[in-house]
Amino acid sequence: MAILPIITVPDPLLKKKSKPVDKVDDKLRTFMDDMLETMYDAPGIGLAAVQVGKLWRILVMDLAPDGEDPDPKYYINPEITWTSEEMNIYNEGCLSIPEQYADIERPAECKVKFLDYNGEENEIHVEGLLATCIQHEMDHLEGIVFIDYLSKIKRGIYVRKVKKLVKEKEE
Ligand code: ZN
Repeated sequence: MAILPIITVPDPLLKKKSKPVDKVDDKLRTFMDDMLETMYDAPGIGLAAVQVGKLWRILVMDLAPDGEDPDPKYYINPEITWTSEEMNIYNEGCLSIPEQYADIERPAECKVKFLDYNGEENEIHVEGLLATCIQHEMDHLEGIVFIDYLSKIKRGIYVRKVKKLVKEKEE
């Protein structure tokens, strides 16, 4: 497995729409394992392929609490087929917007159709943190990051903070 570099805002690739994957094969599985390894190393709970520079509709996630066994999840070509009217607010963060957080409102529950690690079709009904996380990661596939929901001024502040942070790490 390999750790891949994670891109951060304002990288223009983060604004691009990702393309569906047409075949789930060993090559893709190796890439997804690298994504997972990268996410664990960061550390984070979710990662979209675009964040490591590939415009493919793939998400990896692991919401297992600290100290428990890993629970890796892979979602390929995910589609939201239903959302609840009830909303939820979570203080979200993102590996492409390191160390910044904001309260974001999203549907509290949703249904998601996707292909799994073996290329099998699945549909799940999710709620709580998993529902938020899937919707956050699926936004990445449309070229949206969580700060896009904030005002232009706030967004500018977050981007400047990330640029400064990235620069400090390079030095
Ligand atoms: Zn994110």
